[in-house]
Amino acid sequence: MTTQHPEPISLHDDLIIKVSSLLMESIGSTRKVEVNLSSLPLDGDLVASGVSAGITLTRLNTGILATGSASGTVEMQCVRCLNLFEQPFSVKFAEQFRQTTGVLDGKGFTPPHEDPEEDEGDGELAFEISDAHELDLTELLRQWILLSLPMNPICGKDCPGPETVTATDEGEIDARFAALQELLDNEAD
Ligand SMILES: [Zn+2]
Repeated sequence: MTTQHPEPISLHDDLIIKVSSLLMESIGSTRKVEVNLSSLPLDGDLVASGVSAGITLTRLNTGILATGSASGTVEMQCVRCLNLFEQPFSVKFAEQFRQTTGVLDGKGFTPPHEDPEEDEGDGELAFEISDAHELDLTELLRQWILLSLPMNPICGKDCPGPETVTATDEGEIDARFAALQELLDNEAD
């Protein structure tokens, strides 16, 4: 039996979902979750902004499968012109969260032995549901958004390219020298 909940769980600037009721339902039961975040720190100086995600949580015999997609922007530095710009991202993900504690007795919970051939994911179970039966989406979103970002971000097709530091020939003058020249011209007036 699969229980359907038409009303999605809505999270604003919060990434922790209480999943104890879902864990008491039968395998295959689902919850829809909508997430809106004003910002999410990723790595170093990288911060995702305006993140919106739609996630389906599905009850498995070993825990919960979280599948969905997320989009938003990350301020990045263009590798050519070195300007900061808003890099949009859109990413689809699927991750298992392993159940570690029984819901009713709170005692240690040993998930059923998994047949590696039936493993739907890539075999890397990095995520766990907390002992308080809370599922934290922070690390999932952080890792998947980071993976979606370009290694060599370019600000766009109108990228001015590398700044010319020195004049390459008589006719081409560095932008800073041009500004200086303008100042001198104005003073001469
Ligand atoms: Zn650029």
